Amino acid sequence: CDARWRSLSLSAASGAGGASQPAPYTKEELAAALRDGQLMNYYQPKVSIASGRMVGVEALVRWQHPRDGIVYPDNFIPLAEESGLIDQLTRVVFSSAMKHARTWHEGGLDLSMSVNVSMDNLHSLGFVDFIVAEAAAAEVAPRKIILEVTESRLMQDLRTPLEVLARLRLRRFRLSVDDFGTGYSSLVQLRDIPFDELKIDRSFVHGAGEDPTKRAICSASIGLARQMGLDAVAEGVEDSADWRFLQAIGCDLAQGYFIARPMPADAVLAWAAHWQAT
Ligand code: C2E
Ligand code: CA
Ligand code: CA
Ligand code: CA
Repeated sequence: CDARWRSLSLSAASGAGGASQPAPYTKEELAAALRDGQLMNYYQPKVSIASGRMVGVEALVRWQHPRDGIVYPDNFIPLAEESGLIDQLTRVVFSSAMKHARTWHEGGLDLSMSVNVSMDNLHSLGFVDFIVAEAAAAEVAPRKIILEVTESRLMQDLRTPLEVLARLRLRRFRLSVDDFGTGYSSLVQLRDIPFDELKIDRSFVHGAGEDPTKRAICSASIGLARQMGLDAVAEGVEDSADWRFLQAIGCDLAQGYFIARPMPADAVLAWAAHWQAT
């Protein structure tokens, strides 16, 4: 039983990136990586299903490890959350995302920039000041910035997190509920947080055309998004059958390997030009 659980969690972790599993890391190693600039953002395009246009990118962090090569976030985000390094990590990712967004805007690409934010980031109002200041310094309009919120565990006291999100929203930043339908990304969150976007978890998306349960969950999520005035994004669109199904049920936006894998920042302009041309 033990072995079965282990192999299940291993395949779930490698599913995101397909990397072999490195040894678990320590807080000290991650702190050093942050200090030495070993974390870098990859970007995955987000496209409109109706028009086919590229509308934005999502920043996805990778650790360029001197010994292990590229390490995927499932191997260090939980550590960052538990060890209190997530605040610094999110700041590094966000600052880098703002620099890239500015470059792309200057290059004529009007893209939204999505950044993943952990609920653990939302325990201080100082987070609002940081986000506002970084966006202003890079001259990126808040409405072009989408904060994707994932709740990985049950939070005890939601007062400050809710206040932080409400203040960001008042400043015109956009909020997205990530991994909708899994874990704690639930209807309670939709009730309590003024979201602009709903991301349907990829476990419901790939294969939805052939699976009645997934199909029902996708349709219901899109219907919910529409009634609440939110954009619906399907993540994990892996093949043309997924795409056609989402098109048929009126999903707004899509992300996934069928469109593009996450790529280094310097590949984004060329990818966008190629995509626009086809
Ligand atoms: P997520 O936010 O749900 O991001 C989507 C994940 O699915 C990414 O994995 C992406 O590479 C992968 N993916 C995209 N398209 C497909 C597809 O078609 N099929 C499959 N099987 N996978 C696809 P990645 O980059 O390994 O990130 C894993 C998770 O780590 C993210 O899930 C997010 O929760 C977290 N994460 C990534 N970057 C950050 C960050 O900067 N801060 C925080 N707090 N969390 C992050
Ligand atoms: Ca996300
Ligand atoms: Ca997600
Ligand atoms: Ca996720």
